[in-house]
Amino acid sequence: MKQIITLLLAGGLTATASAQTTVVRDPQIEQMIREVSADSLRAHINGLVSFGTRHTLSNTTDAKRGIGASRRWVLGKFQQYAKQSGGRMTAMIDSWTLQPDNRRIDKAADMGNVMATLKGTDPNDNRIFLVSGHIDSRVTNVMNREADAPGANDDGSGTAAVIELARVMSKYQFPATIIFVAVSGEEQGLLGAEHLAEKAKTENWSLEALLNNDIMGSNHSNETNIIENTKLRIFSEGLPAFQTAERAANIRQYGNENDGKSRQLARYVKEVGERYVDNLDIVLIYRNDRYLRGGDHTPFVTRGFPAVRITEMNENYNNQHQDLRVENGVEYGDYAKHMDFEYLRKNTSVNLASLANLAKAPAVPQTVTIDVRNLTNSTALYWQAPKSGKVRGYYVLMRETNWPYWQKKFFTTKLGITLPYSKDNYFFAVQAVSEDGNESLPVLPQPNLR
Ligand SMILES: [Zn+2]
Repeated sequence: MKQIITLLLAGGLTATASAQTTVVRDPQIEQMIREVSADSLRAHINGLVSFGTRHTLSNTTDAKRGIGASRRWVLGKFQQYAKQSGGRMTAMIDSWTLQPDNRRIDKAADMGNVMATLKGTDPNDNRIFLVSGHIDSRVTNVMNREADAPGANDDGSGTAAVIELARVMSKYQFPATIIFVAVSGEEQGLLGAEHLAEKAKTENWSLEALLNNDIMGSNHSNETNIIENTKLRIFSEGLPAFQTAERAANIRQYGNENDGKSRQLARYVKEVGERYVDNLDIVLIYRNDRYLRGGDHTPFVTRGFPAVRITEMNENYNNQHQDLRVENGVEYGDYAKHMDFEYLRKNTSVNLASLANLAKAPAVPQTVTIDVRNLTNSTALYWQAPKSGKVRGYYVLMRETNWPYWQKKFFTTKLGITLPYSKDNYFFAVQAVSEDGNESLPVLPQPNLR
């Protein structure tokens, strides 16, 4: 169900129907989404599968088989798209060597994250948005580097999405920088994501969001035959894993346990994704990841960056992490033939809508404050203009404390607002809005105690 419709039916708020039910789309983002192609995604996946295995410890020098050849192939795609970017996109393999770790690396391993950077056009805008999928694949035994491991869905789907996004978005201009990454070593312990997250931390990147795409192109589980290609899950952490002890008192006091930066990002992806992609509901999952499984967003989450996992509604465990075989009439293995490329197109488009809207938006409003000095049955908020970007105005978002999504938006061109709703009964946040209507991530207000 779409959140906008839900808000009108639920919660007892008197929302204005005209403002809330009209879907206003940025025509440029619509155009980009029309360019995302299921056939193109299928071709990217067939290309990735053609390397036999992309296991992290497989051959790095052979021209046709193994992780090295697959990385160079993705690099070639990025370099090809860079040519249509007017010099703004650059591509590289960020390489390093790992020594055996007594876990899932048993020999010195040449690692490489394949990256395409689409530089922002505004020199005052240092924001970076990252989108990732992992290039490596595996079979039943995580150390088996010899067997064929097609990894069409895990994570050919995420990697193909990243390639497709680079293909389409490289032709357009954004004030902020977008980095497209095919990450290495996920199956051996999130090694490429650890490397990249640590780099972002030590180099002090203004990294405002990571969208991690892992397993998002198959539409049915192994337990049921129900086709589900109209729902997409987005996992986000609840209690922040970063500076948890320092922040715990405030989170407890104000009830902000459901409003960490990654959860805000998840809500944003839901709203913007559903605005642009038809026949798709984005389902917020209130946990960082699934049982028994990990993902490349987590090294970013633990360093305090907003990061989420985007993944299909129902997973098929007959196809993930499996030796290719037939057993009791069941075919096991991560083949492209098990995938739904129209579903993958929609899920890729959710990424595009979110990234484009973020990168076109102004930076977030600064020093967003809620006035708590007096006992009132209203709410006064004030803030300062963002560090970069042309601002048409601001959305003040509001929701009841027990409601999962933002329910109501107030638009203002001013740097403050007073609302006839008690600050004790609602959550609020503020977004900066561009001339074209692109919204920044929402910022939760800090109380002006003392
Ligand atoms: Zn995976």
